[in-house]
Amino acid sequence: MTMTDQPPAIDKEQLRRKYQEERSKRLRPDGNDQYLQIKSQLAHYLDDPYTPLIERAPKTDHVTFAFIGGGFAGLATAARLTETGIKDVRIIEKGGDFGGTWYWNRYPGAQCDTASMVYMPLLEETGHMPSEKYAHAPEILAHCQRIGRQFNLYDNALFHTEVVSLDWDEAQSRWIIRTTRGDEFTAQYIGIGTGPLHVPKLPGIPGIERFKGHSFHTSRWDYDYTGGDPKGGLMEKLADKRVGIIGTGATSVQCVPYLARACKELYVFQRTPSSVDVRGNGPIDPDWFAGIATPGWQQRWLENFTANQAGGSAEEDLVQDGWTDLSKRIRAKITLLPREQRTVENMRAAFEDSDFEKMEEIRNRVDSIVRDRDTAKNLKAWYGQLCKRPCFHDAYLQAFNTPGTHLVDTDGKGVDVVTENGIVVAGKEYQLDCIIYASGFEVGTEYKRRAGFDLTGRDGVKLSDHWARGMRTKHGIHVNGFPNVFFVQPTQGANLISNVPHNLTEAARTIALMVGHARDNGFKEIEVTRDAEDRWVELLLTGVGRMIGGPDCTPGYYNNEGREPGPAAKLNVGHPAGALAYFKYIDGWRRSGQFEGVQFR
Ligand code: NDP
Repeated sequence: MTMTDQPPAIDKEQLRRKYQEERSKRLRPDGNDQYLQIKSQLAHYLDDPYTPLIERAPKTDHVTFAFIGGGFAGLATAARLTETGIKDVRIIEKGGDFGGTWYWNRYPGAQCDTASMVYMPLLEETGHMPSEKYAHAPEILAHCQRIGRQFNLYDNALFHTEVVSLDWDEAQSRWIIRTTRGDEFTAQYIGIGTGPLHVPKLPGIPGIERFKGHSFHTSRWDYDYTGGDPKGGLMEKLADKRVGIIGTGATSVQCVPYLARACKELYVFQRTPSSVDVRGNGPIDPDWFAGIATPGWQQRWLENFTANQAGGSAEEDLVQDGWTDLSKRIRAKITLLPREQRTVENMRAAFEDSDFEKMEEIRNRVDSIVRDRDTAKNLKAWYGQLCKRPCFHDAYLQAFNTPGTHLVDTDGKGVDVVTENGIVVAGKEYQLDCIIYASGFEVGTEYKRRAGFDLTGRDGVKLSDHWARGMRTKHGIHVNGFPNVFFVQPTQGANLISNVPHNLTEAARTIALMVGHARDNGFKEIEVTRDAEDRWVELLLTGVGRMIGGPDCTPGYYNNEGREPGPAAKLNVGHPAGALAYFKYIDGWRRSGQFEGVQFR
């Protein structure tokens, strides 16, 4: 602070230079190809450590609705369909239970980063009160199971099952589904909600297969090896172990404090630090909850959260967290401008100013917590907050004050090599008993590779061909030439990244209404017209583009690892007027009962 108690002025030019310097260090010619696809001799990294496989006979029957993916998308859609009276909904899921992300990610400390009140779907319908402002993973997984039970989704579900092909049967107006378990059954409708981040990836470091110690990916946590449990119980088996964790993204930020507490020595191998803002978690008071949980409460909270950031101007901020804070700062700056000066350029400037301020606070926070000066220096993130996944935690930075916990900063280069005995960085070998890969999930790879299947629609057209030059949909849900298929995901809809489930629950409403309408009126097919799909894509392209992970950002999966993403990526956007506008629009579209642009036959 200065004598006048004002924060020191920010030298914007210097910051811009520093950000570019740090970005340049990390740019690599191989972009997304730097990562290892997990297959062949590495395939064991994908094994399910949580649920044994149960043998069953292949299915050869017919269901009204088959949904691929048993996470929030599938659960919310199936729940809404059930409410509409469509009971034979079959969820096909590669995990051993419902939960999706929350089935796989059971690492210690896993927790939602968006407030539970808006993040956890169907709270009002299930009557569940989240125990904390940011619920931990076991509670979210249990909630998924609760939805499954309440809406009777277990009996029909196929777990440990992966779809290999989806073919449209023109004569019967239905889809033929084949799976890895030998199933070959039909469904009138298909829903697809496989999630954006479900295929783990490994860093492309030479020697991974040579390591003689133990190793696993964070999404397949090996509690048999570590001891402890997903509730955060002490991992007592690590007390005599030297453990290395590669990666410092949102996953690592959450599990490092638990590892620091348990390991004899912990080495955190860092290529790029995350921005780690205040978490401020705490229990939810049942008395307070009883007061606010009046009919329609969750929808009000959802709308308020969105209004506070994505193009809205809400007076009140119910959630009050890091997501709404940045948006409020930007809005405060913009409202200071006279109306005629509220241009796109000035809005971008307001965004940059607010971001600089926020990131300075986050960097200063590191200094105020981390005792070792070198470690503190290396934990500072030099990029805009939305360049990478913003993190929020109140124990991560503190973990580096624990004796035995070491940050190994690689100055943007990454780990050099894995040997039989450990990890080498800048010529120095760190001897390890265990390597944990917190290296994230495939994002920029081809849709078909991540999904594990293609769709063959009308006239034998493959979805991979229809989307060869980028995704094309109406509302992010309907695709021309692929009747009776519904995608449940954020892109080309609201694209509200700070609260993905909100996108999914809205899509679920839309789909259930349309399927109910078809049933009530004797229609067998629902399909968006080519013209409506084209017009929607044109509308999307009138927007300013993505506000997260711009081309000037430090490389990561938000910006195609810093490489020119090509024309297809321009289509990975949401409604040009923002998420709030999209939700209002889709509500009107549904209410009109006209389903403009979609044909029922
Ligand atoms: P990320 O992809 O975000 O992080 C991967 C990490 O591995 C990065 O730190 C990356 O560094 C590092 N890395 C990659 N290659 C190397 C290498 N060769 N040497 C050293 N380090 C390397 O994966 P996460 O699992 O952390 O998170 C994935 C996403 O899942 C998040 O972005 C978020 O959307 C979601 N998530 C959400 C949570 C929540 O809501 N609570 C919690 C956890 C995850 P670099 O940054 O330089 O590429």
